[in-house]
Amino acid sequence: TLPTIYAITPTYSRLVQKAELLRLSQTFLHVKNFHWIVVEDSVTKTRLVGDLLTQSGLKFTHLNVETSSDYKLKQNDPSWLKPRGVEQRNLGLQWLRENRELSEEGVVYFADDDNTYSLQLFEEMRFTHQVSVWPVGLVGGLRFERPLVEKGKVVGFYTAWKPNRPFPMDMAGFAIALQLLLANREAKFDLLVERGYLESSLLQSLVSIEELEPKADNCSKILVWHTRTEKPKMKQEELLQKQGLGSDL
Ligand code: UDP
Ligand code: MN
Repeated sequence: TLPTIYAITPTYSRLVQKAELLRLSQTFLHVKNFHWIVVEDSVTKTRLVGDLLTQSGLKFTHLNVETSSDYKLKQNDPSWLKPRGVEQRNLGLQWLRENRELSEEGVVYFADDDNTYSLQLFEEMRFTHQVSVWPVGLVGGLRFERPLVEKGKVVGFYTAWKPNRPFPMDMAGFAIALQLLLANREAKFDLLVERGYLESSLLQSLVSIEELEPKADNCSKILVWHTRTEKPKMKQEELLQKQGLGSDL
């Protein structure tokens, strides 16, 4: 049987949330043996996300944990100030450790709700022994970042931003064997790390660079893009609401 792909998606309430999750769910519907772990950054599970998941037709697990206030971005903070989705991804890992057995074949991928995923990406990651890696488009101030491969092994990284990070890769650029995560029960993302070091904080305790498994044609194909959705402007909405002319659906 095909190994299961577990995608862990942190998500938070905002105007575009429903659109993002709907787009994602309709991509994932095309992936065989897929299990979506959606972790809301909220005090309680919302109806919006719950209904969307139920109606999606996907196999899913719905979790929530609110980012502790010290680590949460404030309204006007720049988005890079603090890492985002950390406690949510860690809760997803905890759920897998509490609900899955070492005997199960699977792979775990951290799928943010605003990225763009090719279906081919999931077949590339499906058979992962430890950690597989591939390029990510539109990230790090470059058209793409990617692992550099020689004779089938990762020997370095094409990246410009903080190149001395232990694993200078975006969250979207790797997947981890379920067994490796179940065997290393302490491995998780570190909330306290310096900007850019989140991915490294997890990967460092799991693999070395030589062990990385290059996918996507020796990391020569871009199958995922770090797209970001513009925050919609609500000027007219606010004016109408103030005049008592606003409309609700
Ligand atoms: N996220 C979250 N809580 C927040 C901000 C973001 O759970 O307060 C989620 C978000 O929905 C996404 C992931 O964390 O799935 C990464 O956030 P974002 O896409 O804003 O980060 P960036 O692309 O800027 O690194
Ligand atoms: Mn993003």
